[in-house]
Amino acid sequence: MARQTPIRAIRGMHDLLPDESGRWQQVEDRARAVLEGYGYQEMRTPLVEVSELFKRSIGEVTDIVEKEMYSFEDRGGDQLSLRPEGTASCVRAAIEHGLLDQPRRIWYRGPMFRRERPQRGRYRQFHQIGVEVFGLSGPDIDLEVILLTRRLWQALGLDGLELELNSLGDSDERARYRSQLLDYLRAQEAQLDDDSRRRLETNPLRVLDSKNPDLTEIIAGAPSLLDALGEESRAHFEALCAGLERAGIAYRINPRLVRGLDYYNRTVFEWVTQSLGAQGTVCAGGRYDGLVEQLGGRATPAVGFALGLERLIELSAAEPLARVDAYLIAVGEQAPAAALQIAERVRDALPGIRLLCHCGGGSFKSQFKRADRSGARVALVLGDDELSAQRIGIKPLRSGEEQRDVALSELAERLPPLL
Ligand code: ATP
Ligand code: MG
Repeated sequence: MARQTPIRAIRGMHDLLPDESGRWQQVEDRARAVLEGYGYQEMRTPLVEVSELFKRSIGEVTDIVEKEMYSFEDRGGDQLSLRPEGTASCVRAAIEHGLLDQPRRIWYRGPMFRRERPQRGRYRQFHQIGVEVFGLSGPDIDLEVILLTRRLWQALGLDGLELELNSLGDSDERARYRSQLLDYLRAQEAQLDDDSRRRLETNPLRVLDSKNPDLTEIIAGAPSLLDALGEESRAHFEALCAGLERAGIAYRINPRLVRGLDYYNRTVFEWVTQSLGAQGTVCAGGRYDGLVEQLGGRATPAVGFALGLERLIELSAAEPLARVDAYLIAVGEQAPAAALQIAERVRDALPGIRLLCHCGGGSFKSQFKRADRSGARVALVLGDDELSAQRIGIKPLRSGEEQRDVALSELAERLPPLL
């Protein structure tokens, strides 16, 4: 058959290549350890949900729902969407399975889908780790969630992340603020872009979240949401700020921080960095006390965050990771066939060892070259002579030490100190 034109991946959706997956696993493993250290349990939900779920939770008048969702009608006529974020599905599942009878700390991870303009730090399939806490309404849990994020950055060796904080108040306070903001924005309507002008009618707070650099000045001059807070929201915010100070976490109050989704109230926060260019928000979250009810559950306070793994991984120093601990080289008539058996015995004796057994033949020289490229610390060297003497060579690859010759029966003892 004639060679066909290759098919390429969809723009903005990336393959995670073998040499990159180790770094992802490392970040995911460390994140998981931190999350478990705070008593969070993982939940996994489907990648596809009915579109209505996202319309009702994220909000009809948001970039995500208006322009970015991958939505389609399936063969049964249902309107479905690839999930653009994780919170809606978590809340749906928590309601559906009756998880809201007690406080819950839940985390999730996985791909999200938004049809945005692909650029550095912004993709159409991207990956998040997120947490949702249900059933706790106080500033103590907001603080704990932020403490957890700080520990994550420490576990990943990241510094230079800065915390931005705001309070959106409750819905009455936001309604009051909305009309103040509307007066302000109407007075400058001529300078607004089309999206923002349209949102004046539907959702003027969204204007504050605009990414259009031409609007920076208008946004900076807008009235502050914090001034519109009532007593309880203010007390909640102040308690959180005091807790952050006690914990030694520096923060900057950003009164324009509204977040890209509609469901937040009271605490909102972002961790941002200067070192990723325009896409500097690594982690974003806040409180969303109204969402459970909005999705048909009993009113339940909630707080959470999501972090973007691509941005986080770009930020964390890329130390090269070895793929294996040991590489078994086998050359001769009998040695290659015996090697697979010996490798099995080594794996039995040393659970967890990462042993790559060479397949496909070749000279000592070419196999040593592969062993070196694998990142292994040692090569195990088996020729027919070694095999008939029931011995094997151990050659440290990273230290210049001499090869030594050991009895096969002692291999499991002699190998670990060299790894
Ligand atoms: P942004 O303001 O950058 O568009 P957002 O407010 O839409 O972000 P959230 O929905 O809160 O982001 O998602 C949480 C995190 O997920 C973001 O802070 C970011 O790190 C990451 N993220 C969001 N959208 C993308 C994307 N298209 N590509 C890569 N990462 C993303
Ligand atoms: Mg966005």
